[in-house]
Formats: sequence, C-alpha cells, structure tokens
Amino acid sequence: MERYTERVDSRLKELDAVSTGVCPGCDTCREDHGEFVVEEDDEREPGQNAWYVVTPYPGGTRKATEADYYRTEAEAEGAARKTFADAWSNCEVETEASFRRGGCGICNSPLGGNFEVWHWLDADGAIQHEYDACIDCVHYLANGTLPEGEE
Ligand SMILES: [Zn+2]
Ligand SMILES: [Zn+2]
Repeated sequence: MERYTERVDSRLKELDAVSTGVCPGCDTCREDHGEFVVEEDDEREPGQNAWYVVTPYPGGTRKATEADYYRTEAEAEGAARKTFADAWSNCEVETEASFRRGGCGICNSPLGGNFEVWHWLDADGAIQHEYDACIDCVHYLANGTLPEGEE
C-alpha cells in the first residue's frame, strides 16, 4: 500500500482550495448545520413579521423574540447568513463528525468511522462539498499531523 501522504497528495493535487470543516458564509454549510436557518412562524398574526432565524444558544435553541422576526424571507436570510459568519468567527459553530460505513474520500482509507465535511473550489469557483473526510485527514489538512504509524 502507498504511504498515507502519497495517497492524499494524489487525490488532492487536482483540487483547488481544499479545506475541512464548516465554511463561513456558506449557505450549504449553514443548512447542513441545521441552525442559523430561516423559518416561518405560522402562528403569527397577519401583518406581523413572520420570518425568524433559528439561533442556537448554550444548551439548545431559544425561541425567537420579537427582535428576531423579519418581514420577508430574504431579509431573514441575510440576517441568518451574517449571524452564522459571526458565530463562526467567534468559534461558536459546533461541528459534529458523523458516522459512516464507507471509506475516506481523501486518503482512500476503506475504514468506516467518523467523517467530516470538506470542500474544494471547482473551475467556476463554486464550492463543492464532500462529506467523507476521515479524522486523520482532518488533522493532516489542518496542521500537517500524520496518522499514527506514518512518517
Ligand atoms: Zn460550505
Ligand atoms: Zn482520510
């Protein structure tokens, strides 16, 4: 079997701007994350602002207050995008690795385990999301740490 770094490099050499984890300001990551998304409150009276941003706080998701409501979905989306980016820069966006049976899309390891989102830029500059970065690859891409047994 090829060494870990050779496997990773051969996968990544054709891809631009690879990174792991949530990307700030990215609608796909925000929706996958499930918080900082926009919902319509159908119990609001006609004429009241009905769109709000689902905002997490330590211990859960709080109910929207009057100040969280927006008149249109587009306004709420703008606010949600900003809230998500702010939370990300304050390290308040918690990400959870999810368990999968398949192998890693970066180093090609066939083992199941916990995987994280990763992404790269295609030729048009659009962010492509993949959901199969193993924890070894997350560490390697973040700070160059090699998995145990590799050098
Ligand atoms: Zn993203
Ligand atoms: Zn991997």
